[in-house]
Parts: sequence; C-alpha cells; structure tokens
Amino acid sequence: MTNDPLPAELHALLGPAGVLTDPADLARYETGWRYGKGKARCVARPTTTDEVVAVLACCRRHGARVVAQGGNTGLVAASTPDASGTMVVLATERLYPTVEVDALGRTAQVGAGVLLSALQQELLPHGLWFPIDLGADPRLGGMLATNTGGTRLCRHGDVRRNVLGLEVVCGDGTVIRELTALRKNNTGLDGKQVFLGTSGAFGIITRAVLQLASLPAQRAVALIGCRDGEQVLALLQALERAGGELLSAFEVMSRNALRPALVHNERLRAPFGDALPAYAVLVELATALDRQRLDLDELLAAVLADCAHGDDAYLGAPEAFWPLRHGISEGLREEGRGLAFDLSVARSRLPALTAAVQAALAAEWPFARLCDYGHWADGGTHLVVTWRDADAPGEPEAIVAAMQQRIYDLAVRGFAGSYSAEHGVGPHNQRCYDRYVNPAVRALAAACKRHCDPEGVLGTVRLG
Ligand SMILES: Cc1cc2nc3c(=O)[nH]c(=O)nc-3n(C[C@H](O)[C@H](O)[C@H](O)COP(=O)(O)OP(=O)(O)OC[C@H]3O[C@@H](n4cnc5c(N)ncnc54)[C@H](O)[C@@H]3O)c2cc1C
Repeated sequence: MTNDPLPAELHALLGPAGVLTDPADLARYETGWRYGKGKARCVARPTTTDEVVAVLACCRRHGARVVAQGGNTGLVAASTPDASGTMVVLATERLYPTVEVDALGRTAQVGAGVLLSALQQELLPHGLWFPIDLGADPRLGGMLATNTGGTRLCRHGDVRRNVLGLEVVCGDGTVIRELTALRKNNTGLDGKQVFLGTSGAFGIITRAVLQLASLPAQRAVALIGCRDGEQVLALLQALERAGGELLSAFEVMSRNALRPALVHNERLRAPFGDALPAYAVLVELATALDRQRLDLDELLAAVLADCAHGDDAYLGAPEAFWPLRHGISEGLREEGRGLAFDLSVARSRLPALTAAVQAALAAEWPFARLCDYGHWADGGTHLVVTWRDADAPGEPEAIVAAMQQRIYDLAVRGFAGSYSAEHGVGPHNQRCYDRYVNPAVRALAAACKRHCDPEGVLGTVRLG
C-alpha cells in the first residue's frame, strides 16, 4: 500500500482483494488491446452496486477521475487511464459475476462482470444464447457501454436491440435501477439508452436484463470466392432472396486481410489452393428447425449453384471456416504498423468507398497497403492500413494524422457514412466525434453529462 490516501480509503471500503496498487498488478489494466496506454493511480474492484457507489464517492472526494474497464478488448482506447497517473481504473471483473436465467421468459439478468463466453456457457443447457458474437471475449458491462455489433448483427441486431433492463450508477452516485424484463414498455423516454453505447461517460453499468434467442439446431457454412466487391453484393442479394431470415452471417475478407491470418497462424487453412480470391465471403445460414424439416446444407448448396458461385464455393463445418474470420485481427496485428478504421456506409456503396480509399492511398501514401474486411450485410467495413516505417518518408505521427483525416472525411462526408460503425467512441476517435457529430446532438449529450456526472468524474471520452 502506498502513502496515497485514496487507495487506503478504497482498501478500507473494498477489502484487500478490492484494490490494487502494485505496478506489476496495474500493468494489465494500463494497456488497451490495440490503442490506449496510460498510468493508473490504482485499480478498484467493487463487487456490488453499493460498492460502486462508495468507490465513486471516494474518488469524487479526492478529485480523482475514474475509467470503467471490463474485458479491456475495446478498440478506441476508452478503457485505459490517461498518462497522468491520477485516474482510478474501476475494473468490473468482480462485479456480480452471476447469470440468472428465465428460460420461459427467454431473458437473463447478468452482472457487468460476466464474460460473454461464461454467459453463453450458462445458456447452453436452456437451448438459448445471447445473439452477439465476435472474435473477442468482452464483459457484459463493456459490451453494453460500447453497444457491440459483431458478426450476427444482420440477423439479431446490436446490443441495444437486445437489452431490456439496466441498473447503472451515475457519476454523481445516483442509482437508476430499471431491471425490467419487459419487451413492451412504451412509457416515454427509454432511459437506459442514455447509457448504452456511450462509453461509460455518464454512469457505471452494474447489471442488465438481456433478451435471448433460440440456439440454432443447425448451421450451414460456406466460404465463397468473389472477384470483386460488386460480385460480393450480388451474392448477398441472392442469399437474402433465397435464404431470407435464415442468413445469420455474411463476413467479407479481402485477400490482403486473409493472407496475414494464414501466414501468422499455421493452424489456419483456406480451401482456395495457391491463389486467394480478391474477396472470400463467409456465409452462414442458421435455424432452430432440425434437419428432418429443413436441410440447411442442401439449401445453401442449391442457392450457391443458382447464383453461379458453385465453382468457387466450399461448404464446410463452422469450426473449419470461422477461425479464419476470427484470426484476421491477430494476423494484422503481426504486420507491423497498422492504422484501423471501423467505418459504415449504405452497403451498396461499400465497393465504391473501398475503391476511393484505395485511390487516395495510391496517390498520397503509395507505400501503404489496404487490408479490408467486415460485416458487409450491415454496411460495416474494417479498413486496416499497414506499412513499414522504413518505406515511409516523414514522421509516423504526421502520416497517421493526415491519413486519418483523409479517410474519415471520405467516409463521413464523401459517402454519408459513420466514422465508428461498431467500436464506439474513445480517445482514439475523439477528434472525429468533435468534427462530425451534429452540434445539437452534442449539446444533448452535454446536458446528460451535467445531469448524471456534474463533477466530470467519469470516463475518458468527451461526448458533449
Ligand atoms: C479481436 C477483437 C475482435 C473484435 N470484434 C468486434 C466486433 O466484431 N464487433 C464489435 O462491435 N466490437 C468488436 N471488438 C471490440 C470489443 O470487443 C467491444 O468493443 C467490446 O464490447 C468491449 O467490451 P469490454 O468488456 O472489453 O470493454 P472495455 O474494453 O473494458 O471497455 C470499453 C468501454 O466501455 C466502458 N465500460 C466498460 N465496462 C463498463 C461498465 N460496466 N459501465 C460503464 N462503462 C463501462 C469503458 O470505460 C470503455 O469506455 C473486437 C475486439 C477485439 C480485440
């Protein structure tokens, strides 16, 4: 324990396991998955709503700002403290790690500290799942605060669409407890939406009630080669016409994105032989109906034959193809310098956006390589621009700043898109928030901040 009175007070409130001060213990809370590196004054690990209230009161008394941290898998640098060494990390790993399932109601009450993988495991015996799926294992509080999208959004929507009730501690200590399991509740302002997708700027989420989906009885998966983005969109349209609501994932991987995954992970295999196609599309159909009623493999094979993709389509087990998609982020992380953009546009414009970014890079930064992949059915694309510093003239920081401005302007102003399709807002993209978000919306957010957190204790992001 240091001489700092703040950790000592937290220690008295939370007990020895509730506060960390040793630099070796703090390290893992100070660095984000992709962006964000700072220094924590200490880490507080409350277990209940009352303890969260007490931690915030203590931090307010000491004038310390607080950043909530769940799984620390966020990609906008919002879950780590700044470099000042004065911020407290409020880690949710011990905060209600419990799941209460109502199988008949198809809902579950979960604590903010529950890992997504643990939730799915608990739901398995009930034939249910929380239909948000991604290549990381975040905690529920973090997912709610970032409004996670993921690979099943085209079928089930994002987190916002699947939360029924919420308990939250505002920055001023007010507890809003609305742990309702109602699917219909048309009674004016839906207060929970203030806290969903707002990066913990207004309050700390402690518990939530989620609506659940039936676990699929069968899934049919195929990997399909396409020669360009227009062919990808034609495939999407054909699948939606023939498969309708059965389409549960449509994940697009460019050659430049897929190759590093294969190179850096020798356990991954793609079925295309030596030459990767320009785009590989992972398609999944899923249903709760059993195979006697509807054979999804047969249906998918027939659809692919109909839309002239039979020759370059490979049907396979989900376990054979999903690791390719989930291996992309890790593969690109091994490629040296990488600048990531999480964009969305009207999906018909995805090929044009990709071409425009490609053209901008060729003209201004010819040493850079575009690696694009994403959830095209939702209009979402992740663009990762990679390069070797040795090939780049000029300071990396200046290149990054210029490239960001150019590509974000293209997506938001040139294509009426979003600068953050699903990763939320944090220090990494704060400048975009300030540049592109409607001033009237910012004023509304500022009013929420003044109301919920008048002393400005919470968060690393400024939404006002
Ligand atoms: C390999 C990989 C793949 C990914 N794929 C996707 C994807 O497909 N789709 C997608 O949308 N995202 C994706 N992500 C991003 C990330 O997983 C999500 O943003 C996730 O929802 C963050 O949850 P977390 O628990 O890790 O939150 P953290 O990273 O710990 O925190 C994220 C934000 O939430 C706040 N926060 C955390 N807990 C609370 C709480 N209890 N109350 C209030 N605020 C809180 C933090 O302060 C921070 O602002 C991916 C990340 C990785 C590493």
